[in-house]
Amino acid sequence: MTLKVFNNLTRSKETFTPIEAGKVKFYSCGPTTYDFLHIGNARALVVGDLFHRIFKSLGYNVNFVRNYTDVDDKIIERANSLGRDAIEHAAIFVEECKTDMDSLGMLPATHTPKVSETMPEIIKMIEDIIANGYGYIVDGEVLYNVPMFKTYGNLSKKDLDGLVAGQRVEVDQKKKHPSDFVLWKPAKAGEPSWESPWGKGRPGWHIECSAMAKKFLGKTLDLHHGGVDLMFPHHENEIAQSEAANGCTFCNNWAHNEFLNFGSEKMSKSLGNVVRIRDFNEKYGGQVLRHILISVHYRARLEWSEEVLNRGVDEVRRIHDFVLETNSYKANASLSGIDPIIAGTISAMKEELSNDFNAAGAAGHFFVFIRHVKSIKDQLSAESLKLVHEVISFANASTGIVSSSPEDVLAHLKKLDKDTSGVDVDAKEIESLIEERKTAKTTKNWARADEIRDILKAKKIEIKDNPDGTVSWKVNS
Ligand code: AMP
Ligand code: ZN
Repeated sequence: MTLKVFNNLTRSKETFTPIEAGKVKFYSCGPTTYDFLHIGNARALVVGDLFHRIFKSLGYNVNFVRNYTDVDDKIIERANSLGRDAIEHAAIFVEECKTDMDSLGMLPATHTPKVSETMPEIIKMIEDIIANGYGYIVDGEVLYNVPMFKTYGNLSKKDLDGLVAGQRVEVDQKKKHPSDFVLWKPAKAGEPSWESPWGKGRPGWHIECSAMAKKFLGKTLDLHHGGVDLMFPHHENEIAQSEAANGCTFCNNWAHNEFLNFGSEKMSKSLGNVVRIRDFNEKYGGQVLRHILISVHYRARLEWSEEVLNRGVDEVRRIHDFVLETNSYKANASLSGIDPIIAGTISAMKEELSNDFNAAGAAGHFFVFIRHVKSIKDQLSAESLKLVHEVISFANASTGIVSSSPEDVLAHLKKLDKDTSGVDVDAKEIESLIEERKTAKTTKNWARADEIRDILKAKKIEIKDNPDGTVSWKVNS
């Protein structure tokens, strides 16, 4: 199956051709560890994890690097306000980030470097940039000479003249050109600093990713990912630095995830509209968040709403109820052969995943599979039943849409039912009433179907008949 990836360098979907056949060198910009992560940050993290999983499921050997930015202005500012050492403060939040990532069912990356542990490589790269004529030093500060890099703006489709016209802030007098950016800055009191050929100081923001990518992946990468806000200037500057230092292409494919919006604005700390990952997960569980984040294609905006949330809860419940139910399925010994829908599910999912990482499309096939398997659950041959379990494992490995611990996911949702209604809802009982109502409707026993609806209503359960024939339910508070 040919993998196609939308490459932001060319703004087109292209056949993905890694430098070395079967191997992928993949870098994703990781979080700045100064505070707890919010569910907008979670989108960038889960999309990186999704690419990682999809590559693996399509048979690639992946070297996946996701960094922690643990040296940064925001960290220093926050640490100083708390009277804490900046590196210690960042180390605390690296651990908190790990907790959040685990709660989202993310696979470990191959390497997770920190800026504070990459100083020799950062300094060496700045030396190379200067030696190659792209960097200059003013008062202990090293700056990148942007006009020297002729293809600057190629990724973000900006040109230098346009950039200068767009500069509103007063231009730093040290800079030869308003777009020049800092590679190394001199130490200030109360800030972490490292020895360098230019005196004690610390790196600018962009150089870390160039240095870490080279350290673990080499000079040229196959894919680089980050949130869409990182395309300019961060990724543009990464390209300028790496190509100036290494003299060759930095990365062949660039992918950016769109924002998670809240009330049509980007969810961000500066706008004050954030929901922390752990606050969300405490109520709904990480699987619901993961599910919602991958149920929209990574290049489309995700508008957060009550409806999106309820659909996420409902779908996660449906998937995991089904997964547990399959454990009690028994093969029908009188049947043989493989059911065609079950047989075609993995390849249908792979086809979607190969189409620019379309996890939402793959999930669609998985739901068709669920409905079908439920409808023929007593007529599964041994081969079909074995394949049912294989499809579930594939959905888990390739997208994480199925959790590795379905019991925990359902237990969390059950807690949610209690929280919202004030009454203990027995999900199994509800499901069995819904099943009975379905049978009543098929046998045209309308009185019993209505009666069941009333029983559920009395339990504050609202049911909805979906156009695809499934029934969803929720607790009305
Ligand atoms: P920050 O902490 O703002 O540096 O963001 C860390 C990562 O999260 C970056 O890759 C951002 O692009 C991404 N990010 C931040 N806010 C959002 C959002 N609302 N939706 C999607 N990604 C986001
Ligand atoms: Zn980066």
